[in-house]
Amino acid sequence: MPTYDYQCNNCEHIFEVLQKLDDPDPECPLCTCPQVTRLLCAPAICTRGDGTASRVESEIKKRLGQGRAGDALRLADKAVNLVGKRKGMDKIKAARDKLRGHLSPGA
Ligand SMILES: [Zn+2]
Repeated sequence: MPTYDYQCNNCEHIFEVLQKLDDPDPECPLCTCPQVTRLLCAPAICTRGDGTASRVESEIKKRLGQGRAGDALRLADKAVNLVGKRKGMDKIKAARDKLRGHLSPGA
């Protein structure tokens, strides 16, 4: 089953859901709002323009704040892979490398 990334239209929380293609859209796990948008590329990254880096950065911080460093690293990785050339992404790369240093298994 594929994993889909969704963003809540209400609180802008981004989450991943394992589901079949024809499953209905899920609810937001934070605020239970049923209005969610499926992100076709990756969390926080589909947003247009120069806001991408700061958006990704705030998502990373949010995850770190929740103690989800692995998720934060995954998000940073996706962002760097997909839109690493965009303005402001240098700090995301730096954050990614730092996280990776913290999390690398057996290091
Ligand atoms: Zn929500």
